[in-house]
Amino acid sequence: MKWTDPSVCAACAGQGPTCCELAPGQEESCFPLSRVEMDRIREFVNGQGWFALEANSAAFVANVCRLFPADKRRARQLFARGGEHYRLAVDASGACKLLGETGCVLPAEARPYYCRLFPLWMDGDKLRVLEAHCLARRRARGPEELLRQVGLTAKTVHDLHCRLRLAWGFSPCAGEDLTDPILSRNPK
Ligand code: SF4
Repeated sequence: MKWTDPSVCAACAGQGPTCCELAPGQEESCFPLSRVEMDRIREFVNGQGWFALEANSAAFVANVCRLFPADKRRARQLFARGGEHYRLAVDASGACKLLGETGCVLPAEARPYYCRLFPLWMDGDKLRVLEAHCLARRRARGPEELLRQVGLTAKTVHDLHCRLRLAWGFSPCAGEDLTDPILSRNPK
């Protein structure tokens, strides 16, 4: 999603769907977007149709809980069943509508935090590599090499993850609690 190493991302794209594409029918598993992330994207692209409203399905909520194992209660608060959240819109083949001929049309700083982090994540203070179709992940012989391939450092991953947590409505640190849901449209 960052396309910082054209060779690895281009090679990955040549092998099949990339991290910017979902298998048709898998839209509900797409990560959510916060208001701040959508506002930033709107500063760089004109028009409409970049985002889609998606129900907080059981599969989606389970995915968010897997991403935040220490904050499951908060995840279920933010994404209550019966509510909705925004995600990136995709075309009929499952490709993100912001995916152009040579990669994402957005500059790196305007991309959603999840895209900027992928395939890295944090579990508390521990770096985690997400299970995902990613050539860089398969090629790298360890986290250090993977970080180099995707143009990130451990500190950048930590910082981006903290920002994502805040934007999505979690506390900056795993296991803490906040009460004001800002992401999801909860059922009335
Ligand atoms: S916003 Fe850009 S980086 Fe993220 S999924 Fe869409 S095309 Fe890929």
